[in-house]
Amino acid sequence: MKKIDVSALVRENIRDLKPYRSARDDFDSGILLDANENSFGAPFADDLELNRYPMPYQNELRDKIAAFRGVDTENVFVGVGSDEAIELLFRIFCKPGKDRVIINPPTYGMYKVSAAINDVAVDEVLLTENFQLQPDKILEAVQPETKMIFICSPNNPTANSLDIDDIMQVLNEFEGIVVIDEAYVDFSTQASLVGNLTDYNNLVVLQTMSKSFGLAGIRLGIALADAEIISYFLKVKAPYNINKLTAQKANQAFSNLDNLQKNINAVLEERERVISKLITFPQVKRVYPTDANFVLFRIDDAMEVYKKLADEGVIIRYRGNEPHCEDCLRLTVGTSVESDRFFAALKNIQ
Ligand SMILES: *Cc1c(COP(=O)(O)O)cnc(C)c1O
Repeated sequence: MKKIDVSALVRENIRDLKPYRSARDDFDSGILLDANENSFGAPFADDLELNRYPMPYQNELRDKIAAFRGVDTENVFVGVGSDEAIELLFRIFCKPGKDRVIINPPTYGMYKVSAAINDVAVDEVLLTENFQLQPDKILEAVQPETKMIFICSPNNPTANSLDIDDIMQVLNEFEGIVVIDEAYVDFSTQASLVGNLTDYNNLVVLQTMSKSFGLAGIRLGIALADAEIISYFLKVKAPYNINKLTAQKANQAFSNLDNLQKNINAVLEERERVISKLITFPQVKRVYPTDANFVLFRIDDAMEVYKKLADEGVIIRYRGNEPHCEDCLRLTVGTSVESDRFFAALKNIQ
């Protein structure tokens, strides 16, 4: 059981913040004439009462997520994508112009963007050539101002899961916030870190409905953490961050978990087919191990291939500018029809 003093890491202005009290914090039933809503309604038939503001804390949805992930509702924050959760972590913990974070490139680009927006310095400790963490080097890079370490597993764009022992070493030895981004965890054979939340109050697990749930369009991201950290999220977030349309669709997903699992299985099956086909192309030099719904591969003249694929109407991602990713392309696992279009185009341009 690791217990750090979370409140000592939080920026003073956030610790002292008196959050905005919305009208719905005080009353949520009765003749509601307190929020300047339009009682005459939306200009179309509407069964969601869209003329009324949504619930500020989304307790129903948070209950469902908590049950699904095996935690309590007080351990769940829902945001406008994981991107909101990342942004709020910076606002809660990092003093602009002073504090620092550590990231492990090649990795997800938003950590750096959010850091830059918040004027927070980023220290980079590269993954190894096999795309694994270097925990000793990460811990050496920690400075007194280092507030957070971002670890993405399965990692984007490399697709592999990071060694759990390396993650645990960082979690055990770092006296700040360790953020594990598990956007792709439902495609992985490696277990989620949520099981460790009760033992580590410095752990924040990020998840999302954008990938395995197939709901990127509703923008629903999740942070799972100790109740104290979640209370800071709730304090700092915009009062009505999750809108009613998003909440309705997110709730609906939890009534259709059989289909969720079917879709995940379909992705995993197609992923194996894509890999086995990809390795038959002589110009493909390496297909990296994947624990996600995409594949990173190395190919001769990657930039050229990328552009020619686009000319053929098949869009994948060039990642050759990332460290250890020279000549690498990232391919999302699509339907078999989409993948076959990709393979036909790849064949055409060789
Ligand atoms: C796709 C992705 C996300 C999801 O972000 P949302 O804002 O929830 O859509 C988060 N982290 C990583 C590493 C991703 O690749």
